[in-house]
Formats: sequence, structure tokens, C-alpha cells
Amino acid sequence: MTDTLQHKGRRKILLEQISKRFSFEQPLLDAMGKVPRHLFLDAGLDHLAYLDRPLPIGAKQTISQPFTVAMQTHLLGLKRFDKVMEIGTGCGYQTAILAQMGMRVFSIERQKSLFIAAQKNLAALGYHAPLLFYGDGFAGLPKFAPFKGILVTCAAPDVPGILLTQLATGGKMVVPLGVEYQKMVVIEKIGENEFVTTEHGEYKFVPMLEGVEK
Ligand code: SAH
Repeated sequence: MTDTLQHKGRRKILLEQISKRFSFEQPLLDAMGKVPRHLFLDAGLDHLAYLDRPLPIGAKQTISQPFTVAMQTHLLGLKRFDKVMEIGTGCGYQTAILAQMGMRVFSIERQKSLFIAAQKNLAALGYHAPLLFYGDGFAGLPKFAPFKGILVTCAAPDVPGILLTQLATGGKMVVPLGVEYQKMVVIEKIGENEFVTTEHGEYKFVPMLEGVEK
């Protein structure tokens, strides 16, 4: 599988489309322009890879819609070398965007098959820096805390409290909250036990589930 001129062209058009909806910062657009989304998907979905829509990645899960990936990354507000924890690696696409932007990425996936697929996808594209974990994101990664940003890419029914304890002061957690539909919520930690919460529109995510699956 390769990244052809045609793929690059489609990627450019996709970025133009999402930029019409929101004025995203250049480093984010540059990263999305570089990461070949089609190489995170089954070959059979190649022709759909650069449409602004979620797509199946197996194990009843989906790769997030490109606009959603852009918006969550934007809301994190992180820069090069910042430490970020992602909950829900899926196929690894969002992980690659964060890595491409130069962040130090820690990502957790609860489904074994996806954890393995993400490892393969990221390695094949030369992304060796992100640290991938097979485990339950509700527990986070206390050994590696604190994180400047925490990005939850599945729908949490309530704010995952343990994760807040792993957030650095001055850092932000971006989490879709709700069951059927989710509000995109940003929780900024402004003091040891002080948080400021803002809401950023409605989205639809696969659910955040407890425990791991083999
Ligand atoms: N970041 C991915 C999104 C994948 S969909 C992307 O780039 O497209 C969300 C993922 O969250 C699914 O793979 C699902 O298995 C995973 N997930 C759900 N609950 C989880 C949990 N408690 N811990 C870790 N991963 C979880």
C-alpha cells in the first residue's frame, strides 16, 4: 500500500473542507496533510478514506471523523514535546496526528486486536515514538502521569475521575460526555483541585467500556 498523488490530492481537498467549518491552526493542518489516513484502514475502504466521515476499523469500532480528530486535537491546545495520553487508540490514526505534531504520546486501547493493528499501522509508517498500551483507559497510566493533555476518543458516561488526577496543573482533558450523543467537554485543571469546564458542541462516539477484550 502506498500514498499516491491521488491520495495526497484527496487529503488536500478534505483539509479544505474541514477548514471551511473551523479555522484550525497550521501545525494541525500540516500534520493532517501528512498522515495517510487510508493506510489505517482496510484496502476496501481506500476510496472512502478522505471523506469527512467515521469508518469501520473492525471489532465494532470506528476511526473518528477527520473533523472530530481535528477539533479534539485543537481543543487539547498542545504543542511539540508536550506529554499527552490518549484513551482509545483504535487503529492509531489520532495517535499518528499527535506524534506527527511532535508530542510525546501515550495511548491506551482495551481491544487486543486493535492494539495489535495500531502497533502495525504506526510502525509501518515510521511512527516508533508513541507508547501504546493494552489496558483499560479508565485507570489511565499513573506511572507516566502527569500529562499536559488527556484525549478521550470514546464516549464517557461521566467524567472519568481517576484520569483527572493524572492531569498536570495547567493541562486539559478533552472528553466526549454522554450516552446516546455526547457533548465535547474540555476540563482545564487550573489548580490542585480546581477545574474549569467548557462545552464545545455535540458529537457521536463509540462508548468507553470497562475492562479489556481479548
Ligand atoms: N482514536 C481512534 C478512535 C477509535 S474509536 C481514532 O483515531 O480513530 C474509540 C476506541 O476506544 C475504540 O477502539 C475502543 O475499543 C476504545 N475504548 C473504549 N473504551 C476504552 C477504554 N476503557 N480504554 C481504552 N480504550 C477504550
